[in-house]
Amino acid sequence: MKNSHPVVLIGAGLAGLTAATYLKRHGVPIRIFEASKNIAGLARSIQDPDGFTYDFGAHFITNRLAAAVGVSAQSRHMPRYGESVFRANKVYSYPIGLMRSPRYLSSALWTKSTNLFRSRPQNAAEWFSQAYGSRLAEEIAIPLTEAWSGAKATELAPSVGEKFTSSLPRVMMLLGASRFTKRTVAVGYSTSVTESPHVWHVYPEGGIGAVCEKLADEVRECISLESPVEAIHTENQEVVGVTVNGKDYDASAVVSTAPLHVLPKLVRGTDSLHDLSRIRYRPMIFVNLRLRGRNLLPNVVTWTPESKYPFFRLSEIGMGLPWLVPDGHTLITADIGAQVGDEHWTKNDEQLGELCCDALLDLIPDIHSRYLGCRVLRTPVAYPVYLNEYESRRKEFAESTGIAGLYCIGRNGEFAHILMEDVFWRTRRKMLRLMQERNLI
Ligand SMILES: Cc1cc2nc3c(=O)[nH]c(=O)nc-3n(C[C@H](O)[C@H](O)[C@H](O)COP(=O)(O)OP(=O)(O)OC[C@H]3O[C@@H](n4cnc5c(N)ncnc54)[C@H](O)[C@@H]3O)c2cc1C
Repeated sequence: MKNSHPVVLIGAGLAGLTAATYLKRHGVPIRIFEASKNIAGLARSIQDPDGFTYDFGAHFITNRLAAAVGVSAQSRHMPRYGESVFRANKVYSYPIGLMRSPRYLSSALWTKSTNLFRSRPQNAAEWFSQAYGSRLAEEIAIPLTEAWSGAKATELAPSVGEKFTSSLPRVMMLLGASRFTKRTVAVGYSTSVTESPHVWHVYPEGGIGAVCEKLADEVRECISLESPVEAIHTENQEVVGVTVNGKDYDASAVVSTAPLHVLPKLVRGTDSLHDLSRIRYRPMIFVNLRLRGRNLLPNVVTWTPESKYPFFRLSEIGMGLPWLVPDGHTLITADIGAQVGDEHWTKNDEQLGELCCDALLDLIPDIHSRYLGCRVLRTPVAYPVYLNEYESRRKEFAESTGIAGLYCIGRNGEFAHILMEDVFWRTRRKMLRLMQERNLI
């Protein structure tokens, strides 16, 4: 009888909607509760009356994901994508410009030739030094990692480097394919599906939220908005239902996309998840600067590792996704790592805009005469922070929640530094497992 109850999904972002459509297509009854007024979570865009579009988190997907979701026909190819590092007033393209620098190359070669004599890295600082050489690690990789994570690289787990494990020949092959095909071939974007010259970046018309809208079309009648799940009930280490807006619902399984540190507060009837409340996410402020002109930065993405800058990454949206800005204009997003309530978090939009413009003078000397105001977006849960202190627990949780019928999916639910394509494929695999384990197929 238990399995006749619906599977309850917490959250109607990409992960929740991917899970919902997959289960529904397999004939599994579902119910989706979304806390906010809108679907799409981190994958949504906002338009302003002046013709600028702001992506909340995600900026683009791949043609493979667009095809899988069914938004290929409405997706445009990204005309340009590239990354650079700006340090000590010099611009290095990534990765070729860095490799060409004798300073970084000699240190990397020396490290590679002596790595055999080193023990396995115990933290992210050691991982970066062994992978890139001490000079590049100390001047670029470690400061950037500390800026986005808000933690010392020596306190972070070596797995922080997993995201960068593509081999150099493979990266070079993909970059070569990008030049040859004139498509923005995805490099370092996904780990659960293979990267290839046939997978490139695209952007759906109407904004990134179109992906979630398309998925939601199949399950619209099962979605309840403004419905935060307040409790997940368990009996004998097994999920039995949820409470939403004060009302109880039975469930054959619960699939959560809520941030992992929130889960212990939701789960009732067991304290086996209590230790997850120490898990940390990095809050982030995105300052979207509206500017006159176009192609003002060295590349679509520019990394700024020096601590004199309040931001660590700049994305020129008008360069990579020109249709998101009016003609003759551009949008630069400055990513500022923060703590909720700190000196940056509490600044108002104008103060943050001024702060970023002043810091950008090194790159755009006439920025003040181009500046047309800004729009600021904030999220307290932008990046999962892999601290060594809970690394073994993180790995254990990735295998299983330890509660029968409770599954965690998505970027914040899994506590994994993954992008939309990985969220999509990993979620589908997990939902197959759910159906097998809960005898639903
Ligand atoms: C700065 C940034 C840039 C990014 N850029 C890219 C990119 O360019 N390309 C790319 O592919 N990916 C990118 N990503 C990643 C991508 O945005 C995410 O992987 C994806 O959107 C995550 O979807 P999700 O469903 O896992 O989580 P979310 O989008 O966070 O959705 C979770 C949903 O659950 C709801 N919820 C939470 N708690 C409850 C509760 N108790 N009850 C009910 N509902 C609840 C929330 O309101 C939310 O709607 C980026 C992410 C960030 C932060």
